[in-house]
Amino acid sequence: MTNARFTLTGSSTYVGVDIGGTNTRIGLFGSLDAPDFVYLARFPTYQSYEEQLHHIVVAVRASNIHHLAGIGVSVAARIAKDGCSVSVAPNLPEYVDRPFAEDLVERLKIPVRLAHDTICGLLAEKQFGILHQIDRCAYLTVSTGTGAAILLGKASTMLISSIEIGHQILDGNSLKCLCGQVGCLETFTGGRQIELRYGCSIAQITDRECWETFSDKLAIGLVNLAQLTRIDVVALSGAIVLKNQFLLPMLQEKVNSILKGSTLELKKAMLGENAPIVGAAALLEISEDHILH
Ligand SMILES: [Zn+2]
Repeated sequence: MTNARFTLTGSSTYVGVDIGGTNTRIGLFGSLDAPDFVYLARFPTYQSYEEQLHHIVVAVRASNIHHLAGIGVSVAARIAKDGCSVSVAPNLPEYVDRPFAEDLVERLKIPVRLAHDTICGLLAEKQFGILHQIDRCAYLTVSTGTGAAILLGKASTMLISSIEIGHQILDGNSLKCLCGQVGCLETFTGGRQIELRYGCSIAQITDRECWETFSDKLAIGLVNLAQLTRIDVVALSGAIVLKNQFLLPMLQEKVNSILKGSTLELKKAMLGENAPIVGAAALLEISEDHILH
């Protein structure tokens, strides 16, 4: 596949950047055929947009590689529809509406692509992980928030979209979500919202009842997702899933008992914390036309 917006050079060295709410990681990829990279830098994510930009540029320049083919950036934030800036970012408010892609292109003189971290996670799992060769699938991250991206493909057609799975409304839920709506799934499944409600971190919750409620609600959210999109497989990631091994089988059982007429397979994502950085680099070989931000 070729990049629609930018023409890649003959070089095959790429940079992937993973900007999380807490940490930023920058990696150098010798090719896009494998999920292998070496670190160029790791630092706490700067709340200041200018400082963050500066540190990314310094790290990339310090690599001393003169023919980089491009830089792909995964951001823990919603990206504007044109794929060039951050549009919604409760954890990185100073980044909103700044010309992020343009600023990087101007300073580094290489092609730049941006995407929400769920899209990058999905791309990584599709290329190198559990979603390989699956045409209708999703990537779900269950962590501070509950985010997802879906991929619907057939032959040479493919559409990847970031979706607001955590902000679907559940019937009878009167809890107010941090997004301002009442009744969102994330009021039950978002680490941050659970912490605010119970006054302790989700890691400290051992009560079986709490996990039953958590998985009941998330199973409904997943069944809704399957019915609306007709996806076959979901790769699950995020701290809450990865640290609680019992959760995935529990969810699968509940999904199986609700869903009729089709099946939905839940699988643990394979690339773990590397998924966003690997997917960020992988963005460089996926046409921007295939991605709905
Ligand atoms: Zn919400």
